[in-house]
Amino acid sequence: MKFDTHKPRLIFWEVTKGCNLRCVHCRATATELSSPNDLPKTKALNIIKQISQLSLPIIVLSGGEPLFRTDIFELASYARDCGLRVALATNGTLVTQEIARKIVDSGVRRVLHQSRRSGRRDPRCLSRHPGSV
Ligand code: SF4
Repeated sequence: MKFDTHKPRLIFWEVTKGCNLRCVHCRATATELSSPNDLPKTKALNIIKQISQLSLPIIVLSGGEPLFRTDIFELASYARDCGLRVALATNGTLVTQEIARKIVDSGVRRVLHQSRRSGRRDPRCLSRHPGSV
């Protein structure tokens, strides 16, 4: 098997289990705080480097809620600087104008909003968070 023909073109990476919503259906079993088991920044940066040496896929930073990570913009900009195309999968609830600017500045090219479709809340998003549905 030639490895060159099987390089990844798209990688979804669950960078944290932390999330502020904790939807009942969440397969990430999201916790309200960032998990102590989340990969430390230095190791995460190293993984990004290794990925970029293998191929230059689209990398989707997901979770949990990726914006729970205080180093998420550092990871995104490092991935961009390594030549990866960076996307962010977020529930959107933590996105302020300032955060939106940081998302853009860190090189994220696509934002996947997981809880809404066509401007309406996705009925599958059954959060335990008061007032969220
Ligand atoms: S918003 Fe997404 S990551 Fe957060 S609890 Fe809901 S399904 Fe899980």
